[in-house]
Amino acid sequence: MKTIGLLGGMSWESTVSYYRALNEGVKAALGGLHSAKLCLYSVDFADIERLQHEGDWPATAEILCTAARAVEAGGADFLMIGTNTMHKVAPEIEASISIPLLHIADATAQRLAADGIGRVGLLGTRFTMEQDFYKGRIADGYGIDVIVPDAREQALVHEVIYSELCLGRVRDASRQHYLEIIAALRARGAEAVILGCTEIALLVQQEHTPVPLYDTTAIHAEEAVHWALAKPHA
Ligand code: GLU
Repeated sequence: MKTIGLLGGMSWESTVSYYRALNEGVKAALGGLHSAKLCLYSVDFADIERLQHEGDWPATAEILCTAARAVEAGGADFLMIGTNTMHKVAPEIEASISIPLLHIADATAQRLAADGIGRVGLLGTRFTMEQDFYKGRIADGYGIDVIVPDAREQALVHEVIYSELCLGRVRDASRQHYLEIIAALRARGAEAVILGCTEIALLVQQEHTPVPLYDTTAIHAEEAVHWALAKPHA
C-alpha cells in the first residue's frame, strides 16, 4: 500500500471527513484491521483564511509548499490538498515536490465524465465559483459546461462556508438556502451539482435533494484509496 500525503486543516472539520473516508475505504478494500497509511500536515486555517481574503495567494502558496515538502519527506508517495479552494495554488505546490498530486477537480471531472454529465452546477467558496482555476480545468480538460449561482447566491454560499461549516455549525436554515440554490441551478440546466467545497457535505447530502450531487471530499478520498492500493505497473 502506498502512503497518502494529505494537506489538511482547511478546515479541520473536513479533514475529519477525509481521515474517516480514507480509512474506511482501505478497510472496505482490504478488510480486517487494515487502515490507510497516511501522512497528514494540518495547517492553522486562521492564517490561510486571512491571506485568502487579503488576496495574498503567494503567501498561502508558501505555507502549503512548506507543508507539502514536509509530507513528502515524511514518506508520502503522492499528495492530496484537502480543499477545493487551495487548488488555486496547486501549480506552485506541484512544482515544489517530486511526488504526484491527486487533483480534486480531475478526480471529480473524471467521475462526471464517466456518468455522461455535460452540464454541471458548482457550489464552493467565492474564489472557487468566481475564478477559473477550478471551473476552467473541468471545462477545458473534460468538455463539461460548468455553471455557478448568481452573485447574491454566491455570497450566501461563501458566507455559510466560512461563518458556519468551517466552525462546525450545521444549520437547517442554511441547508434550506443551499437546497433552493441547487434547485435553481437545476432549473438552469445543470444535470448535477458539484459540492465543490470540502465542508458542504456536512450540510447537504444526497437524501435532501433529487438533483445528483458530486461530493468532492468523498470522490477525492475514494480516488486516493485507488491510488494507494493500485498495483505498481509491471
Ligand atoms: N474547504 C473549503 C474548500 O474546499 C474551503 C476552505 C478553504 O478555503 O480552503 O474550498
